Amino acid sequence: MTTWTSQMDSLIAPAVARSEVTDEVVVGAGTLDQSGALIRRMTAMPRVLICADEAGFEAAGRPVVRSLEATGFAVQTHVLPVTPLPKASVEEAEPFRAMLADDPDLFPVSVGSGVINDLAKYAAYQSNRRYVSVATAASMDGYTSAGAPLAENGFKVTIPTRAPIAMLADLDVIAAAPADMNGWGYGDLAGKVPAGGDWILADALGIEPIDDVAWPLVQDHLSGWLSGPGGVKSGDRDSVARLFTGLTAVGFAMEAHGSSRPASGADHQIAHMWEMEGHSHQGQKVSHGAAVSVGCVVSLALFDWLLEHDLGALNIEGVLSRAPDLATREAHLSEAITDPKIAEKAKAELAAKHASRDVHAARLKTLRNSWPCLRDRLSAHLYRHDTMAEMLQRAGAPAYGAQIGVSPDHLRATMQAAAFIRRRYTIFDLLHDIGQTEVAFAAVLPSLTTGDLVADL
Ligand SMILES: [Zn+2]
Repeated sequence: MTTWTSQMDSLIAPAVARSEVTDEVVVGAGTLDQSGALIRRMTAMPRVLICADEAGFEAAGRPVVRSLEATGFAVQTHVLPVTPLPKASVEEAEPFRAMLADDPDLFPVSVGSGVINDLAKYAAYQSNRRYVSVATAASMDGYTSAGAPLAENGFKVTIPTRAPIAMLADLDVIAAAPADMNGWGYGDLAGKVPAGGDWILADALGIEPIDDVAWPLVQDHLSGWLSGPGGVKSGDRDSVARLFTGLTAVGFAMEAHGSSRPASGADHQIAHMWEMEGHSHQGQKVSHGAAVSVGCVVSLALFDWLLEHDLGALNIEGVLSRAPDLATREAHLSEAITDPKIAEKAKAELAAKHASRDVHAARLKTLRNSWPCLRDRLSAHLYRHDTMAEMLQRAGAPAYGAQIGVSPDHLRATMQAAAFIRRRYTIFDLLHDIGQTEVAFAAVLPSLTTGDLVADL
């Protein structure tokens, strides 16, 4: 198996060289001491603002501050409490943004994981400042990505921002992060499997072609990165390093492609519904990675259903004659999404992706004619949903709704709503195009609500 250190040279270094924004990535054991020198290479500003929450600061803040001070920086810290956990929202980024706006010589450095990194990234961008990210857990793929997935007035959007100018990760810190956080990262990375399936569909239908940079950067190595679920849970440094390498590569793939397509499909649409709802389980907001993890299994189950059917036998006229028009779909949307703000945004997404009858007919013809080949492509790429569910649970990530407090009815409602919230073509849109959404949902839901849980989770 290729080692993560060799992938740093063969994959990450060329990605950094290609990146228009990121100049350096430092990953290794005991690297926090290098943070001052790294940040000195990135900026001539005299002062640094450490953006953190209590957990990230506890994990890595003090050594970073020491290293910065030893390099001659004056250091300010702004540490958000973790009770309640900071929200992934534009509003939560406001204190960081305001501090940067007040001082043009203040250089932002995020010390933390998902939410903190996104808040600092957004605040830096709003203040027209570069920033450096110090990663503290392998919990998500956004350290090196350009977008910040934040809620603005309650609707989750990926706000275009800039990737960090440099990213530093100390594997001693990452391996010591709470096991469930690295499990979330494993879930976020596992989501790239069905997201790749979604992209294959969009490619086959001529909607969004696969590119030859972002696709291989992620998809050619995914099975290796996902190959150590037990080690991710136990904090084995090699398994965690492999996972972190994969998450880093995904960030660069998004930058190279110019959107989150290489990283996000129906799995993320499901997750975004729960994130927008502010869904909690056992008193904690369900994390992005945990939500994606469950969304990944749902999406793979829909692919399993699809692969059992013969689209070569599609009755095209029959499907077209039963296809709802846009007004009917808008009515379905209003039933599925009760929050008026989310419904309004989703309506714009639906209008953008609703196909005319001619386009719909052409897609069905393509599906019918290319099915054996498309089915083989999908089968070669995807994992069965129950296989993936077991891997996720071995990594300490949830695989089924029940594990994050989502009831069967809630899951069905989420699937119905998630199909509308984004114009990006996914398995949801394919099921709509072949007129099988409700049939497929009804078929997969039992296996998603009674799935075998791995003991000792
Ligand atoms: Zn994600």
